[in-house]
Amino acid sequence: MSIISPSTNPGRLRSFIHCLAVLLDDKPTEDRILCEGGVLLRQLIAVDDWLPDACAQARPERYQQYLLHADSSERFSVVSFVWGPGQTTPIHDHTVWGLIGMLRGAEYSQAYRAADDGSLRPEGDAVKLVPGTVEAVSPTIGDIHRVRNAFADSVSVSIHVYGANIGAVRRSVYAEDGSSKPFISGYSNAHLPNIRDRSIELENL
Ligand code: FE
Repeated sequence: MSIISPSTNPGRLRSFIHCLAVLLDDKPTEDRILCEGGVLLRQLIAVDDWLPDACAQARPERYQQYLLHADSSERFSVVSFVWGPGQTTPIHDHTVWGLIGMLRGAEYSQAYRAADDGSLRPEGDAVKLVPGTVEAVSPTIGDIHRVRNAFADSVSVSIHVYGANIGAVRRSVYAEDGSSKPFISGYSNAHLPNIRDRSIELENL
């Protein structure tokens, strides 16, 4: 019987990172990345036993974004977003492909599109993401949205994968009148989780 605690099973994240890197080695189209990468992300979030507790901590001042892994060539990054009660992002873009998988709780993603007068208008209803849901963004399929925790009284966690080291990408936040400001998000954590120590897993084989 395994003695691995519910939040310290890094094998699932390690496997996801490996499989995504193998997919990207094939230099796939964006369509294929979103489709096959989405399948991999759905598998990753299907079981909630691997996210380190340190990367699931909400803070009252704002939502948190913890870097879990950055590819050595910065082809992709994996980030846990932790939403405190009622927390929301500004309207923002990504400039690269992204996949969002809901792990705990729920969130709403509202897409925006530029109107003829340059202002930003909501496009359709907000999409509700629940555990197991995967959503995609990119400049080709729709890149501007606002995300908020669906709950006013509890924490939600989503796992995001982007086609770059997203914390270092020059992006924009928007007002509804269409005006924008540049931003670089950075990350909330100074240290990465150690997913390479296999000793506990090996002792339990
Ligand atoms: Fe986003």
